[in-house]
Amino acid sequence: MVYDKEKLLQIVKKNEETEIDCLKKLVNIPTCYDKHHDMTPIITQLTDEFEKRGYQVQTFSTSGAPVIVAEMNRGMKKTLLFYNHYDVQPEEPLDEWKSPPYELSMRNDRLYGRGVHDNKGSLVANIFGVQSAFQAGYEPKCNIRFIIEGEEEAGSIHLEEFCKAHPDLLKSDGCVWENAKAIPNQRSKFKAGVKGVVYFELHVKGFFRDAHSGDAPIVVNPAWRLVWALSSLKNEKEEILIDGFYDDVLPPKKEELELFTKYPSDEIEQYKQLYKTDKFLLGRDGVEFWKELILKPTCTICGLLTGWTGPGSKTVVGKEAMAKVDFRIVPNQKVFTVKQLLRKHLDKHGFSDIDARFLTGYEPNRTQIDNPFIQMLKDVAKDFSGKEAVLFPSAQGSGPAYLFGSHTPWVFGDVFDPESNVHAPNESMRLNELRYNTAFIAAVVTELGTY
Ligand SMILES: [Zn+2]
Repeated sequence: MVYDKEKLLQIVKKNEETEIDCLKKLVNIPTCYDKHHDMTPIITQLTDEFEKRGYQVQTFSTSGAPVIVAEMNRGMKKTLLFYNHYDVQPEEPLDEWKSPPYELSMRNDRLYGRGVHDNKGSLVANIFGVQSAFQAGYEPKCNIRFIIEGEEEAGSIHLEEFCKAHPDLLKSDGCVWENAKAIPNQRSKFKAGVKGVVYFELHVKGFFRDAHSGDAPIVVNPAWRLVWALSSLKNEKEEILIDGFYDDVLPPKKEELELFTKYPSDEIEQYKQLYKTDKFLLGRDGVEFWKELILKPTCTICGLLTGWTGPGSKTVVGKEAMAKVDFRIVPNQKVFTVKQLLRKHLDKHGFSDIDARFLTGYEPNRTQIDNPFIQMLKDVAKDFSGKEAVLFPSAQGSGPAYLFGSHTPWVFGDVFDPESNVHAPNESMRLNELRYNTAFIAAVVTELGTY
């Protein structure tokens, strides 16, 4: 390690008042995209924060919220990239907040406010982390670039537009996706991939109006047709029955399976606590648990709507039925292929009458787990936390990181904090976490040019 951890922590502590003040300014500006908040004030604020630190700032307009790119090009060979977002989740339910959501407040060494954790706190830690590395006199051997979007919580609707127009800006030697952090005595978790998702609504129509269920022998029942179609998609062993569905799925690698055997057992315990269960689907446990959760595709009925669902016994054949279905997909599956395969499957099984409406899709993406950038983050995390970080080849969820994946290695890293209340009322971050997050980033900036 080329940095001195204590020296970095001292600088971070010295800057702390300014750092919290910077966070306060950002949190106090409401920035929920779906609520059509005016994003101009936060763009002005961020531009100001970056420019006074010597970054060149460009604001790219999209059909939605603008994307801010702040760059410190120092003529180095390597570039460190940060992806963050300045938008936040809606604040409701308001009456459950103990302090106003858009006013940063501190209680018991925790900072509270909407966006404090997701993702304004990490953005500020990244900005002050870079600054601290310079203040420590390390002259980092890399260029720094921030890409900050304003629609992440709404599904990054227009990020693709930006990424396709500016692939050069996505190129880097390592991208910190929102956060990477380590705090003493806590294991860091790094996720180096995302599954893709393909989301459909399946619609079935029967006769033009609801029918008396006594007429069931002569009327089409869309509920039955939908249930039959759904049951043709997957069996009770959780195998997806669509022809060719698994053709593009990469088999697990030896290194990945090896990694799973080394996970501490309380990683699975945390899921048991989460769902208040001591047994998972099909008894999945150990390596099998992780293999299914991280590397395999899924098919899920997310919702069903048909017929009479109110109180009492209304004997009726509904005129229509609808199911929401998602497929989580893994490398090298493609959204386009899954769309085609599902249509083919429904037609082949006699369900040409079912209208499969595609709603949204994200591609899957993974950074190779032996990428030096990830290994470096793991080493720095161990140095800061005293514990071996857990590296997940992929998250089980999906996200826009796939748009960056073919241009840069990227990783998302967090530490477990059940009180962070991300997306919920009283969102918070431990002051200690902000401090160590900042110092961790300072260390990463310093190390990047040296590995
Ligand atoms: Zn979020």
